[in-house]
Amino acid sequence: MATHQFQTEVNQLLTLIIHSMYSNKEIFLREIVSNASDALDKLKYLSLSDEAYKSVRFDPRIDILFDEEKKTLTVRDTGIGMNSDDVVSNLGTIARSGTKAFIEQLASDAKKDSNLIGQFGVGFYSAFMVASKIEVFTKKAADSKVWKWTSDGKGEYDLSEADDSAFPLVEGVGEGSHGTAVVMYLNDDDKEFASRWKIEDIVKRYSDHIAFPIYLHYLKK
Ligand code: ADP
Ligand code: MG
Repeated sequence: MATHQFQTEVNQLLTLIIHSMYSNKEIFLREIVSNASDALDKLKYLSLSDEAYKSVRFDPRIDILFDEEKKTLTVRDTGIGMNSDDVVSNLGTIARSGTKAFIEQLASDAKKDSNLIGQFGVGFYSAFMVASKIEVFTKKAADSKVWKWTSDGKGEYDLSEADDSAFPLVEGVGEGSHGTAVVMYLNDDDKEFASRWKIEDIVKRYSDHIAFPIYLHYLKK
């Protein structure tokens, strides 16, 4: 296992999100579902255009699971997934230079406009508004290794190799499948996101345009 530091801009973004978006927390699910959808789009494209991905199974779906006992909300996709280099360059950094500049500007500005932040799309890190810990399990299509990323959003993350059995089980998704699962351990104050109707409502409002099937699973105690 290796511990990595978040890029400075990620810490700035996290501080901004937590202090200015608290009345709009629910958008985290839109961000996580849109990443799942992007990952499915990427795999769809590669499976049509890249020899290396031609034989990869494309069975696109997004599954959202709530586990009442563990108080976790999980979003799993069967998209492109990430290898360890992808994880290091995508989760813990803000790669897009435009976004970096935007954050630096916002951070130096006393007036932190939550509408502005909301509009530009806060991305993956917004899940730390509702989760005290996040685990990401991921396996890249046409690759055999599984990676586990874990962080409490406080400046660093751990990355280690895992195996197929580490992925949260989802009915309908075969073991060994490529893709990504984001497991969010909900804060005590954010248990409202543990309710089935709440999740359904958010998914309907923000993710209605998603082109892939979204399935909800509710694991009761
Ligand atoms: P953006 O989606 O705007 O690029 P995010 O913060 O939402 O920014 O996500 C950062 C990056 O992490 C994505 O660009 C992508 O490379 C990677 N990523 C996040 N979620 C997933 C996922 N479910 N599958 C594959 N890659 C992902
Ligand atoms: Mg995104």
